[in-house]
Amino acid sequence: MKRGSFAVLSNEDIAFFKKLLPGRVITDESELLPYNTDWLKTVRGASKVVLRPKTTQEVSDIVKYCYDHNLAVCPQGGNTGLVGGSVPVFDEVVITTQLMNQIISLDQVSGILVCQSGCILEALDHYLSNYELTMPLDLGAKGSCQIGGNVSTNAGGIRLLRYGSLHGNVLGLEVVLPNGEIVDCLTTLRKDNTGYDLKQLFIGAEGTLGIITAVSILCPPQPKSVSVALLGCETFDSILQVFKSSKLYLGEILSAFEFMDSQSMILVKENLKLNSPLVDYPFYALVECSGSNAHHDEEKLMSLLHAVLDKGEALDGCIVTDSAKIKNIWSLRERCAEALMYDGYCYKYDVSLPLSAFYQLVLDMRDRLGANATRVVAYGHVGDGNLHLNITSRQYSKTTFDLIEPFVFEWVAKYRGSISAEHGLGLKKREYIHHSKTPSAVALMAAVKKTIDPKGIMNPYKVLPESILR
Ligand code: FAD
Repeated sequence: MKRGSFAVLSNEDIAFFKKLLPGRVITDESELLPYNTDWLKTVRGASKVVLRPKTTQEVSDIVKYCYDHNLAVCPQGGNTGLVGGSVPVFDEVVITTQLMNQIISLDQVSGILVCQSGCILEALDHYLSNYELTMPLDLGAKGSCQIGGNVSTNAGGIRLLRYGSLHGNVLGLEVVLPNGEIVDCLTTLRKDNTGYDLKQLFIGAEGTLGIITAVSILCPPQPKSVSVALLGCETFDSILQVFKSSKLYLGEILSAFEFMDSQSMILVKENLKLNSPLVDYPFYALVECSGSNAHHDEEKLMSLLHAVLDKGEALDGCIVTDSAKIKNIWSLRERCAEALMYDGYCYKYDVSLPLSAFYQLVLDMRDRLGANATRVVAYGHVGDGNLHLNITSRQYSKTTFDLIEPFVFEWVAKYRGSISAEHGLGLKKREYIHHSKTPSAVALMAAVKKTIDPKGIMNPYKVLPESILR
C-alpha cells in the first residue's frame, strides 16, 4: 500500500499541538504503541503523535491545523474496532476522544441523553441506571468502547433486536468536519423533518467524514425484570424454530436471541475456563426477555421452554433470573471474541445472510479449510440475521488467508448478504465493498467523501477503495 501525499509531522507541528493541549500530547514511542495497534493485534500503524483534546473547540483547532498543513488524521475512540479502522495505517495524527467523557444533559422524562463522544458505553449505562434508564445498545466491548466509536461504526450488538439500530436511536450529532468547521446537529427532537438528515451520513462513516464530538441519543426505560434461557439444540434448523417460537411466546418482551455452535462453546470452555450449565449440544440458543413484571415474564419464558422441549425444537434448557447467573450465561456468548485470541491468529468475518443460508457458510468453510485452520467457529445475532464467522490458526498463514478470501465474500454476495453486518469496512474489508454495494452507490459515496473531505485527510485508507477516490 502506498502512503498518500500528506505532509510529514514536523517539530513545529508538535510545538503547535503542545501549546494547544498542554500535557495532552503523546510522542513517547512506548506510550504510542497501544494507539498504533488494534484490538485484534492484526494491524499496526506508525503514528508519531497522539492528541488528547477535551473540548469540541480543541478538536476543531487541531483538525483545522491538520487540514491547513495537509496532515492526515486518524480519529480513535476505545480502539475496540475489528476491521483495522481505528489505528493509523502510516503516520497519521491520532486524535483520541478518551478525555471527552462528560455528560452534557439528560431529560429524565423523554430519556434523551446528550454527552461527549468519548463516554464509555458501560459508564453511560451505569449513569442511566440511576434514573431507571438504559442505553439502547449493548455489546461485548462495552467496558472500553465509546459512544462516538459506536455511532461511527453504527454498532449493532445484542439489543438491536429490541431497540433497533443507531440510525433510529441517535437523535443528533455534533461533528468536526475535515476543515475544522463545527457542524451542530445536536438536536434533542424526536421529530425534525427540516431538510436532509445530515447526522445519518456520519453514523457508520467510520471517521472518514469528520470527528463526532457529541451525541444525543434516545434511551429506553431500564427493564424491571430480566430473565435468560440457554437451550441446547440438535441442528441449526432447530435454532431457527426456537427463534420463531420465541417471537410467538415472548412477543414484546423478547430482548435478545443469540446463537453459538458447539465449537464456540468448546472455545470458551477451553480458552477461558468458563462453565456452561448444559451438557454438550451441537447448537445453543441464548434467549433473553426483559419486561416490567418479573412473575409475568418468567411465566412466559417458562411456557416457551416447555413448548420448545415438547416440540423437540430444543433438547434441553435452563432458565436463570438471578443477575449473577445471567451474567455467567451471557459471558459464554459475549467472551467468544476474547477467547479466540488465545488460539493465536483470528480471521474475523461478520456477515448478514438470509437465515435459510446462515449456517451453510460455516459448513462450507470447514470443508474448504480442513487442517489449515485450528478452529472454524460461529456465533451471532440470529435475531438480526448476523453471523460472526471466526477462523483461527496458531499464526497468520497466507495459505489459509487465500483459502478464505475472497471466497467468503463471493459466497455472501451469491446470497445477496452483506460482507459487513455491523463491524464496518475499515482498512481490512474496503476493497470488497462492491460485493455488497452497486457501482453507482459506491460512486455516490466517493462523491460525498470528496465533497466533505476534498484533501482526503480524514481517516485515509479506510472504508472506500483507493481506486474510486483517485
Ligand atoms: P474505535 O475502535 O476506536 O473506532 C472504530 C471506528 O470509528 C474507526 O474507524 C475510528 O476512526 C472511528 N471513530 C471512533 N471514534 C470516532 C469519533 N468520535 N468520530 C469519528 N470517528 C470515530 N461491534 C458491534 O457492532 N456489535 C458487537 O456485538 C460487537 N461486539 C464486540 C465485542 C468485542 C469483544 C470487541 C472487541 C468488539 C466488538 N464490536 C462489536 C466491535 C467494536 O466494539 C465496535 O465497532 C465499537 O462500536 C467501536 O467503538 P470504539 O469506541 O472502540 O471505536
